[in-house]
Amino acid sequence: MKLDILIVGGGMVGATLAWGLARRFDHWQVGIVDPASFEQSVQPSFDDRVIALSAGSVAGLEQLELWPEVAEHGQAIEHIHVAEKGGFGRVQLHTDDYAVKALGQVIPVRAIGKVLRDKLNCQWFCPDRIASLSRQADGYQVTLASGQTLHTKLLVVADGGQSQTRRLLGIEASDKPYRQSAIIANIKTEKPHQGWAFERFTDSGPLALLPMTQGRMNLVLCVRPDDVDATLAMPKADFAKLLQQRFGWRLGAFTDIGERHCYPLHLIESASLRADRAVVLGNAAHSLHPIAGQGFNLGLRDVLALLENLDSQDPGAWAGLARWEQQRRGDLGRTIATTDLLARLFTWDLKSLYLGRNAGLGLLNHLPVAKHKLAWQMLGWEN
Ligand SMILES: Cc1cc2nc3c(=O)[nH]c(=O)nc-3n(C[C@H](O)[C@H](O)[C@H](O)COP(=O)(O)OP(=O)(O)OC[C@H]3O[C@@H](n4cnc5c(N)ncnc54)[C@H](O)[C@@H]3O)c2cc1C
Repeated sequence: MKLDILIVGGGMVGATLAWGLARRFDHWQVGIVDPASFEQSVQPSFDDRVIALSAGSVAGLEQLELWPEVAEHGQAIEHIHVAEKGGFGRVQLHTDDYAVKALGQVIPVRAIGKVLRDKLNCQWFCPDRIASLSRQADGYQVTLASGQTLHTKLLVVADGGQSQTRRLLGIEASDKPYRQSAIIANIKTEKPHQGWAFERFTDSGPLALLPMTQGRMNLVLCVRPDDVDATLAMPKADFAKLLQQRFGWRLGAFTDIGERHCYPLHLIESASLRADRAVVLGNAAHSLHPIAGQGFNLGLRDVLALLENLDSQDPGAWAGLARWEQQRRGDLGRTIATTDLLARLFTWDLKSLYLGRNAGLGLLNHLPVAKHKLAWQMLGWEN
């Protein structure tokens, strides 16, 4: 079968790109290959996670005409509170400071998956995977594990951090484990969250609470790998006690603790975003620590920029892909560096760093220019 674009990986980023392509270039044949069926509840990209979309990403989804349906599942973030547990320094951001209705929106990724599933109409090769690739003058010949042969003018690599396709293309990637895993769960709190999102740095790793609809909150608790099994197996009452110790009583007692899931954390960076007639984006290009909630926000900006730069005559044309890579470098470099710095700074538990971090947070809150610059970047308004 002949395709204009084959997207490898129909997760958050790959499926969003497929939708964007269908809207902008409706004359193209677009296919998605993924070992997980889009219909199944086991699709790993659309699992029980909840993500914070920056205000910039909300604007991006509006541009893609995805936002109205996604918005139905969203909870606005009106205030952000960042502090070190037991420390004096803190940074607070409020909608009023930026004259916006929301600093971001919290959305369950399963809801985004459902919206995309209902809207997307492309060629699905799922469940299937690439068995071999061969470069041809005008694209790639792709043989799938099912035996089907495809030809594509552009190959889009969006198959996640452990990308097999990146390897098939011979693109190197660095992989630095953070020696931390994120445990997530939905919970309720005795006091209403009133649109506050919290990031609390503790001596065992960061803890984030994101406000959700129906008075729930989404917890992201980072723990050392040695503590993962015990933390997952803890009875709910003990787990609530642990959260209380790490977060305190600002929101009263933690109740209704939902199912816990675990994600080992790595910084994975692809050495290149592009090969001949191929691009690498989303987690396949950059897998980040969730501390600053930037992974999908960054992947969405990859998608929006690609849609702007593709040559409408030939999606694999060199000039459009080179321009895209060039445009993405600055934003990627800044976002990866800031996220990695935060992840490392706030996970080392040296006493001197504790004082420095506290002083830094306190100072940042009183330095409007620096605070707003960081906020601007985190809110996805500067790229
Ligand atoms: C705990 C946690 C909290 C997070 N919070 C936030 C947040 O608040 N804000 C934010 O912006 N981001 C957040 N993220 C990051 C966000 O989830 C990711 O950036 C996003 O899922 C990346 O999407 P992706 O499609 O690039 O990759 P993935 O979600 O990894 O999807 C990869 C897809 O490729 C498929 N695939 C795998 N192997 C193959 C193969 N061989 N061939 C074809 N397909 C394949 C998979 O089935 C899947 O569909 C968080 C992540 C975690 C772990």
